Amino acid sequence: MSQPIKFTLPAEAIPERWYNLNADFPEPLPPPLHPGTREPASLDDMRAIFPDNLIEQEVTQERYVEIPEEVREIYTLWRPTPLMRAVRLERALNTPAHIYYKYEGVSPAGSHKPNSAVPQAYYNREAGVKRLATETGAGQWGASLAMACQLFGIECVVYMVRISFNQKPYRKLLMHTWGATVHPSPSLATDFGRKVLADDPDCSGSLGIAISEAIEDTVKTPNTKYALGSVLNHVCLHQTVIGQETIQQMEMAGEAPDVVIGCAGGGSNFAGMAFPFIGRNLREGTRCRLVAVEPASCPTLTKGELRYDFGDTAETTPLLMMYSLGHDFMPPSIHSGGLRYHGMSPMVSHAKKLGLIEAASYPQRQIFEAAVLFARTEGLVPAPEPAHAIRAVIEEAEKAREAGEKRVILFNLCGHGMLDLSAYETYLSGTMKDEGE
Ligand SMILES: *Cc1c(COP(=O)(O)O)cnc(C)c1O
Repeated sequence: MSQPIKFTLPAEAIPERWYNLNADFPEPLPPPLHPGTREPASLDDMRAIFPDNLIEQEVTQERYVEIPEEVREIYTLWRPTPLMRAVRLERALNTPAHIYYKYEGVSPAGSHKPNSAVPQAYYNREAGVKRLATETGAGQWGASLAMACQLFGIECVVYMVRISFNQKPYRKLLMHTWGATVHPSPSLATDFGRKVLADDPDCSGSLGIAISEAIEDTVKTPNTKYALGSVLNHVCLHQTVIGQETIQQMEMAGEAPDVVIGCAGGGSNFAGMAFPFIGRNLREGTRCRLVAVEPASCPTLTKGELRYDFGDTAETTPLLMMYSLGHDFMPPSIHSGGLRYHGMSPMVSHAKKLGLIEAASYPQRQIFEAAVLFARTEGLVPAPEPAHAIRAVIEEAEKAREAGEKRVILFNLCGHGMLDLSAYETYLSGTMKDEGE
């Protein structure tokens, strides 16, 4: 082979610590507020739904948090994940740019989500919790938590956005296979779900509604805690194994990225890839650009407002300082289920506010055009969410061609699309619509 295109690390290279960008932000992150008093939320406010050990991680200012040995052992089932150079895509684009991607689709659930599901189940088991309640959109998080709970002997109950429950049967079946109970949300299992259904019996659901149901279930059921698959600081923290491994792999490749790109729904896979690079920019003066990409139809970072807002529809969570489209925003039923959230991780929002990252958005058909080009050149079928990142990568590669300059582009291929083929069918049949059509 003329040039190496795959960069793999031995199991010992799995990071021993997660990286916390809160230690390096030039201005501190605004705290969550109690919605009644608008004072910073107390630890007791959070204890109703999270165990102490995860609350500690949510608020820590330590730069590094040690990864428990038991978690690292489970990580070895799919980590370290490979870094690939997309030489065939480069050739198809006729670009002097070098394009690299980190592939998180090799996990059992097919995405980056188990990177946080496993430690969350671990810390809950350590805290004596017997049952975890959560929500899921397209099913990636629900499936990941179902698997993780099974590995630690915890019961798992998932409120799944109804439209996905009906249209995406395979992830629901994965959750059943991993032993979870799955309710379509809005459901009859909670007061809030019953209220929403009484007002609108055909309500197709949203992540905001499903979060409200999972929190209600948590506070009303003994020995139960709540788990969130994105948005929160401790979730972003867990995902930093992605960027830390990638830094080692880019060194193996002998290159440094000029731009790092990831898709952003709640922000966790983007944070996981980007935060270790932002930390280097801040501490070592490297000047790598970071770009978060979202759907034009759910444009939280590009068109949302930075303000305190609720994380859920029923207004049960603390207020979070974040870019938001409003907690009653009903996202259109685009195919990237994982990117249909009204808010954005406070840490990613803060990075945007401080000018440490950029944001871009694209309409759905351009996303699938990019996804199909990637599948036809690199083989892997991407999930619709990271196809947003691929669209932005192609634009960067085209700019490099026009400028006639080499540019090193890195992106996070955070999941495969083998359970999203019906979305590909819609695109390939020519019936996919963009926002406003
Ligand atoms: C859940 C999911 C997302 C969106 O969540 P983030 O927290 O923004 O990462 C993106 N891609 C895939 C494959 C997902 O499963």
